[in-house]
Amino acid sequence: MLAIVVFFFAHWWLSVFFQSFYLHRYCAHGMVSMSKGWERFFHLCTFVAQGSSFLMPRGYMILHREHHAYSDTEKDPHSPHVFRDVWSMMQHTKERYRGLLNGSITPEARFDGDCPSWPRLDRVAHSWVTRIAFAAAYVLFYVKFAPHWAFYALLPLHFLMGPVHGAIVNWAGHKYGYRNFETSDRSRNTLLVDVLTAGELFQNNHHRHPTSPSFAKRWFEVDPTFAVMRVLRWLGIIELRYAA
Ligand SMILES: [Zn+2]
Ligand SMILES: [Zn+2]
Repeated sequence: MLAIVVFFFAHWWLSVFFQSFYLHRYCAHGMVSMSKGWERFFHLCTFVAQGSSFLMPRGYMILHREHHAYSDTEKDPHSPHVFRDVWSMMQHTKERYRGLLNGSITPEARFDGDCPSWPRLDRVAHSWVTRIAFAAAYVLFYVKFAPHWAFYALLPLHFLMGPVHGAIVNWAGHKYGYRNFETSDRSRNTLLVDVLTAGELFQNNHHRHPTSPSFAKRWFEVDPTFAVMRVLRWLGIIELRYAA
């Protein structure tokens, strides 16, 4: 039982942390700088943490820059105010992500470029063989350690961890919670759910201050990803490019 609980939360937290720190704050916004060696290290960590649902940095980056530029309009790739439910929103996001990566969709030039890439690793990480191998490893772990077959119901969350986090953040972050700032979009801060998403659900703060490495802006708001980033800065691993 304990092994399953630890595994589930480790996978959940590591996956959301590297999405927030590496894909979002580093790749899409360039909030921090680091050496090429550390970039490769965090790229590898993101691959291992996200496993079967690894998001290619370039695909994530373009979608996310489109989201900021066109937030809550028809051109937003994932606004809860455009799509009738979370499923149709994520389906659209998935199709656009695929189109961007296979070249059938050409993004505006301003959203592309300047993205960390590791072509060899990305080719392996993006392949179905790798995704299925990760999924098989999750299943084997549950077969070995789950005290009851009912725990297998958690497996789909492991298979689709990245999109599950995306669905929570994209839907709740523009629909539920309070606003600290007037912005042209409908972003909100979903404080109570943010315990699950490592700072990502302070969407209203982030849309108002898109380059600020800290997503928490009031005394009662806590941004766990930024707390880790402060440790990484203290260790000399990263530099903050903008003030928090
Ligand atoms: Zn947003
Ligand atoms: Zn952002």
